[in-house]
Amino acid sequence: MAGVRFHGPIDLHTHSSVSDGTETPAELMRAASASGLGTIAITDHDSTAGWDEAARTAREEGITLIPGMEFSTRVMHSSVHLLAYLFDPADADILAETARIRHARMVRAEQMVRRIGADYSLTWDDVLAQTTVGATVGRPHIADALVARGHALTRSEAFAGILHWRAGYYQPHYAPDPLHAIRLVKAAGGVPVLAHPATRGVADLVSEPRLIQLIEAGLFGLELDHRENKDEPTRRLVELAERHALVITGSSDYHGSGKPNRLGENTTSPEVLERIIEAGTGSEPFYID
Ligand code: AMP
Ligand code: FE
Ligand code: FE
Ligand code: ZN
Repeated sequence: MAGVRFHGPIDLHTHSSVSDGTETPAELMRAASASGLGTIAITDHDSTAGWDEAARTAREEGITLIPGMEFSTRVMHSSVHLLAYLFDPADADILAETARIRHARMVRAEQMVRRIGADYSLTWDDVLAQTTVGATVGRPHIADALVARGHALTRSEAFAGILHWRAGYYQPHYAPDPLHAIRLVKAAGGVPVLAHPATRGVADLVSEPRLIQLIEAGLFGLELDHRENKDEPTRRLVELAERHALVITGSSDYHGSGKPNRLGENTTSPEVLERIIEAGTGSEPFYID
């Protein structure tokens, strides 16, 4: 492990305006540097469109950038997120699958807005006004439009109310099975890590037999240090990670002002990042030297 080329603290899960973060990739890198991080991964939902801008600014700011993405997957009615690091962003299968997901997200968001618009003043143009061109559209953009219209005070309030599945406006969108996504990431030279796997709902889906199936397909780690993970399933998954030699990561899941999560509130150890870098062959970290 000689010649480590990055510095800590290390935060491996953040979002920019390429998906549902509120800061551009450049602003995100400046915020990371200002908060004292040495290494950051940009992991927008279903898109790598922020990598180049983030890499340029990370270099200016003197921080290492790990290129990544948060892949939307689905098991029955539950959405399961897969972090993917250091894969080839030009891989044709990944490009096709993420384009399909982004399109499905757009159609689904329009359907949700149509339903909400029957009961509240809200139009699709309101949502587009909260979205940068080409961004991966999600409920956070609808939440911002609801806030702009005065139907909620914050994103979180919109999520707890109108956007909650119980409110009746929720609509799922197409996403592949996690097993398929892991295979795509592996085939593109990437390193797959299950994002916040101990949140309510998702934890029940990660039984040991299911996890073994994912590990056999190439799952490399579990993001267990994350504010939304619950204590009891986290303890169970720490044991499973140890038993199956998975790495454990920690990160903020920062979304700018769109969520209370702060950069660096959870971090990943240098030893774990070193293993991720050794395993990733589809792209290189953007080092500062
Ligand atoms: P979607 O994938 O479109 O269903 O929306 C889920 C996204 O909304 C996730 O990426 C979360 O980061 C974000 N999200 C979930 N809950 C909240 C919340 N309470 N406040 C802000 N963002 C949230
Ligand atoms: Fe998000
Ligand atoms: Fe997520
Ligand atoms: Zn995320």
